[in-house]
Amino acid sequence: MDAKERKKVEETILREIERGQKDIAFLEELVKPIPPDNAIGRLSRMEAINTRSVNQATLSAAKVKLTRLKWALSHIDEPAFGICIECGKPIPLGRILLIPETTMCVPCLEEMDE
Ligand SMILES: [Zn+2]
Repeated sequence: MDAKERKKVEETILREIERGQKDIAFLEELVKPIPPDNAIGRLSRMEAINTRSVNQATLSAAKVKLTRLKWALSHIDEPAFGICIECGKPIPLGRILLIPETTMCVPCLEEMDE
């Protein structure tokens, strides 16, 4: 990865971090405690509980992603950045720009899934 590519990746990560932080702030509003039955009715409360657990899952996924993005950002200047941790080959730039927090190339990831 040359300096220009690295710069591009850095910009992508910064943009993703900003978006992630906004998403997290928004989701944290959504997962606030649900009012008791008598305040909103039993059915809508059940619905609210369902929606809330979906939002909680989304929120924790967003937090994991944010942590990984920050990690990627702090390691971007290291020679190992963009190198697959499994096979040691460079991860294609297109993939890094799409998922900057990735640490593995597609073939290795697919092998792990099997
Ligand atoms: Zn690999």
